[in-house]
Amino acid sequence: MPVSAASGPRSRATRALYLIPLLALLAVGCSPASGAAPDADPTAAIPLPGPDDGSTGGGSQETPGQEGGGELVGDGPLHDKIVVIDPGHNGGNAEAASQINRLVPAGPQQKACDTVGAETGTGYPEHLFNWELSLLVKERLEADGATVILTREDNESVGPCINERAEIGNEAGADAALSIHADGGPESGRGFHVIVPGEVEGFTEDIVEPSRELAEDLRREYREGTDIPYADYLAQDGLDERTDLGGLNMSTVPKVFLEAGNMRNAEDAALLEDPRWREQAANAIARALAFYLMRE
Ligand SMILES: [Zn+2]
Repeated sequence: MPVSAASGPRSRATRALYLIPLLALLAVGCSPASGAAPDADPTAAIPLPGPDDGSTGGGSQETPGQEGGGELVGDGPLHDKIVVIDPGHNGGNAEAASQINRLVPAGPQQKACDTVGAETGTGYPEHLFNWELSLLVKERLEADGATVILTREDNESVGPCINERAEIGNEAGADAALSIHADGGPESGRGFHVIVPGEVEGFTEDIVEPSRELAEDLRREYREGTDIPYADYLAQDGLDERTDLGGLNMSTVPKVFLEAGNMRNAEDAALLEDPRWREQAANAIARALAFYLMRE
């Protein structure tokens, strides 16, 4: 799967699609809780920053319609932001038990380096879902100028271990980090949840608060932007605080996990397996990250 699939025009179209509601929200200055943008055509009043909008000065001189190879990095509302996207698990994990099962630092305790992940009833594996959705989110954030780092390069290799995934965000000095997963819950249970770091002495004190803000943005945008409800088999209103996850405990930057749906539930699985739905989900996730980052 080409990571560089985002061409110039596609990037600009993507930007317009996922950011318009965000910019509308910011423009009217309302809090997220007080409701979304007015019903009136949001595009009419909201200037899109960057080269999309010929009326703004100070942007790049990229000619509209010119194939610029999508070179929008350094431009756009997220031009000074670094985001680490962590697609959970990896396609080679199942064949590498000894590597995956070795213990690594995970906070006060050690945990296994990684796991294999879930899959749907029809055999769509979580590692592939995580990878595909992560690429879509990356494409969108990059279209708005963010620097986006993935914690793995492909979906065929092994790992990295959970502590290494956290370390990638730490070393990058990420403004936000997001692990993308899908759950393997009971077949009868539906829904998504966002996992936030709880307080772990000597580890997570500095990230608990900003991570919760990020989680609330993500929960709101994901709930509104997808057809998946809050999980009904665990968590509380779509949020779950945990102190046992190495990927959170070892992070020094704001970080949350998204459990995007329950792969073992047929209704959720039908959505997770649908490429058009994944585009919608990526819009919501990117919008949540952008919202968090622009408010920082
Ligand atoms: Zn997972």
